[in-house]
Amino acid sequence: MLTTVTAGPYTIRGVSVGGVYTSIQVPELGLLFDAGISPRSFGAIDTILLSHGHADHVGALPALLGIRALHGKTKPPRVVMPAEIVDDLQVALAALSKLQRWPLEIEPVPMMPGDEVALRGDLVVRAVRTFHPVPSLGYLLVRRVAKLRPELHGLAGDEIAAKKRAGEDITSLEDRLELAYATDTLVSVLDHSPELLKARVLVMECTFLDDRKSLEAARAGCHIHLDEVIERADRFENEHVVLMHCSQLYRTDEVAGILDRRVPPALRKRIIPFVPTDAHWPG
Ligand SMILES: [Zn+2]
Ligand SMILES: [Zn+2]
Repeated sequence: MLTTVTAGPYTIRGVSVGGVYTSIQVPELGLLFDAGISPRSFGAIDTILLSHGHADHVGALPALLGIRALHGKTKPPRVVMPAEIVDDLQVALAALSKLQRWPLEIEPVPMMPGDEVALRGDLVVRAVRTFHPVPSLGYLLVRRVAKLRPELHGLAGDEIAAKKRAGEDITSLEDRLELAYATDTLVSVLDHSPELLKARVLVMECTFLDDRKSLEAARAGCHIHLDEVIERADRFENEHVVLMHCSQLYRTDEVAGILDRRVPPALRKRIIPFVPTDAHWPG
């Protein structure tokens, strides 16, 4: 049932069908984006990032919490989400806890656009504004690494050590934009947060692929149409662009062909369609 693709150093694993369910795991970062399904293997994850509160993105969270308990996890997972939805999600989980006489607990991490939270080691998540009819966020995963200040390059090791002993700050922080996740949004997300176009891997929705849905209708639903990706084709600097959240209007086995026909080759060769390899959507 799960689809797995490789995008540079990252494994992208899960399911994403627009309006049906989206849940994507990146094991190398220890993260799960959205909780639209709850397969057994996702129970090992300790950090979940929710894009927004629509059911196809959060509906499976209670089941996932139950599966974590089966995995022997006693500490509630960190759940990063738009600040505006924390209270409503807690109310929903409280109702379900009452229903099943078992506590469904999370450690909520409320975020607003521009906020940053350290996840683990040198990994930081930055929230970016997305454009959907409900409170929503995209996420940019950044590795913040300490580098020797450029003006000290070329100095001998003992000279650098002496500066450090003298209390001089010999390092500066460098941000490596590793992976970005943006779904359920107008394409304006790319204009508002152009740093997404520089992330090594961009996982982005492209719900509609051709004129079976008009550009106007896609925009009215606050989703991205392939026409809008093509318009911006030369702005993507990403090593890989994983397009997900495709509508079930398209058969899984025609998605790659539509991209081949429509997307300029320089971008097409970096696009990985996140669809099952067989002819059907799961379920
Ligand atoms: Zn969705
Ligand atoms: Zn949505």
